[in-house]
Amino acid sequence: MSAEARQTLVDSGHLIFQDEHDDTADPTQRADFLDPRYTNTNLIAFTAALIAKGYHVEITAVNRDHSDDSALGYHCHHNGFAWDGWPLTGPIPGEYLDQSDPVFARFLGDATSCAFYLKTGLAGEAATPENFAAAGAAVFHDDGADHVHFEVNG
Ligand SMILES: [Zn+2]
Repeated sequence: MSAEARQTLVDSGHLIFQDEHDDTADPTQRADFLDPRYTNTNLIAFTAALIAKGYHVEITAVNRDHSDDSALGYHCHHNGFAWDGWPLTGPIPGEYLDQSDPVFARFLGDATSCAFYLKTGLAGEAATPENFAAAGAAVFHDDGADHVHFEVNG
């Protein structure tokens, strides 16, 4: 995945980097998406395919802003294979899609057909029975605050 593809992704307007809307944060999310040391090329391809379906996502954690999760397996945040986020109703930060909205379930289902998709984690309010059903076979109940975790293979 070229540097140009990474730049196109972060400039798409479909990824909202939460740490750029938090005065207390030192933003790293955009930089992580631009840097192959922090995000695997397969994660970039997966994310580009997902937003190409029209979705907007608020990114809540990528790599450097996530704890070291490498004990959980190779395809983790620490090795650049995962991000956490929440789908939005559109391009406006904080305009979160309700977890019971059918579009939320469709988002989860569509993610499973994107390039390099490996696994979905549902945490907090995202972990509804409907969302578990929509996310297919490779879904697990994730820890922590409300979020959707995606990881890719590679
Ligand atoms: Zn995660």
